Amino acid sequence: MLQPDDKHDDALAGLKLGSTIAARQLKYSLFLAAILGLLITAFQAYNDYGWLYGVYTQANQRTIASNVPVAMEVLNKSDRELADVMARGMLNQRSIARITLTDAEHGIFFEKKRPLGQIPASRWAEKLFGGLQTVVIPVRDPDAQSATVSGEMIIELNPQVYVSSFMSRVAWSFLSNMILAVMMAMAFAAMSYYVFSRPLVHLGDYIIKADPTDYDRPMEMPPHHRHDDEIQLLGSVTVGLFGMIRGQVGQLRRARDELQDANVNLEARVQQRTEELKDAMQKLEVLASTDPLTGLPNRRAYLVRLEEAISVWRRRDTPMSVILLDIDRFKNFNDTHGHQAGDAVLVALATSMKATLRDIDLPARMGGEEFAVLLPGEELDGAMKLAERLRAEFEKSYVSYGGNKLSYTASFGVAGLPSSASAAALDGKVVRNLDALKSRENSDISALIYSLADRALYNAKETGRNRCVLTDFEMLFEQINA
Ligand code: GH3
Ligand code: MG
Ligand code: MG
Repeated sequence: MLQPDDKHDDALAGLKLGSTIAARQLKYSLFLAAILGLLITAFQAYNDYGWLYGVYTQANQRTIASNVPVAMEVLNKSDRELADVMARGMLNQRSIARITLTDAEHGIFFEKKRPLGQIPASRWAEKLFGGLQTVVIPVRDPDAQSATVSGEMIIELNPQVYVSSFMSRVAWSFLSNMILAVMMAMAFAAMSYYVFSRPLVHLGDYIIKADPTDYDRPMEMPPHHRHDDEIQLLGSVTVGLFGMIRGQVGQLRRARDELQDANVNLEARVQQRTEELKDAMQKLEVLASTDPLTGLPNRRAYLVRLEEAISVWRRRDTPMSVILLDIDRFKNFNDTHGHQAGDAVLVALATSMKATLRDIDLPARMGGEEFAVLLPGEELDGAMKLAERLRAEFEKSYVSYGGNKLSYTASFGVAGLPSSASAAALDGKVVRNLDALKSRENSDISALIYSLADRALYNAKETGRNRCVLTDFEMLFEQINA
């Protein structure tokens, strides 16, 4: 993976090695310089040609014109020595290849040619200077009246030396023009690099490395550029943009931090409120299901557990029993010892019940001085034994109040639903009726059991109080079938 710095370096390498302005400039300049060099060379060649052509023709004419009188004298005097001197002089003219003098009868009187042999005339000599030429000039005596001809001077012209001269001039001109053009192109490219490319690369380097979103680093200024030009403008605009970006990022950050703080606060508050609400609900739950005086579960909590026990009896054939108890002659007690003493009895009775019962048993205050005990898993005879134990316990206990020991008793009614095994020992009719009960609603069965226990309790009161009475199943079925 690339580190941020590697990325920067890569981008810079791209800037330096890629097609920079200077490199492009050099390429185009070289191309233009080459064309310009060729044009100048062509112009110079054209001029040179005109000039050389003029020199060639003039030199020939001058040589011929100045030597015609000498040729006449040679022919008149038949002076071969003079002819030789003349020919040597003429051959100094490098375009003259051969001189021949003929007499009046066209016989050759004298001939001299370039001693180095014939210089071959090239194709260019033909095209540019008319190639090899032979000029025949009649030689006349100017003093003679008639146009008698003394002879002829025949000159062979070869322009090859002019061709060579022309070619070498063109070659040199081409070479020097090209060297000059290349040098100028390179100088131009170098200048372009120093003026444009280098400051732009430095500015690019600055833009890539500067991170306007990094708040921990101070903002750097762009590289120094001493010309007040577009590149400096670009640098200034970039700094301005970076400043704007940094400002915006700062605002966003502050907004984000505020939002985060608000979120954290909100979360904490929601959590706190949720906890408070849970606590309150738990307290409410306890309050709603607890009797404040004795701390025992109340009627509501008791009925919920009773229906649960009925369900278990129905599904698993587990027996369950209920004890209902009521303090004897409590109105009298209150009247005699006062309401507070009565309360003390209620509390003592609750404490005594909690101490005597098993954990799974559920004692509850049903209202006033009436209590109930739910005994899950207990058959009726077991419930009767427990009721008897409670009764005996209450009978022998007392409450200390106002310096007196106040005793109290209670009466008990016991009802319940036996398991099928215990029911089998009962009458066959009872068994059938118990089975029929299973199809009833829990709330129905619960009300039934309560009223049976109440009936048994009533019997206990009727038959003398401070005693326990077991429900009568016959009564149960009367009730069901009623
Ligand atoms: P019985 O033996 O037939 O039950 O007679 P009883 O006087 O106990 O019966 P009754 O239902 O006529 O009277 C109940 C009394 O219980 C009436 C009331 O003063 C008393 N009582 C009910 N609730 C409380 C209570 O919370 N505290 C006190 N101190 N007395 C209560
Ligand atoms: Mg009562
Ligand atoms: Mg009572």
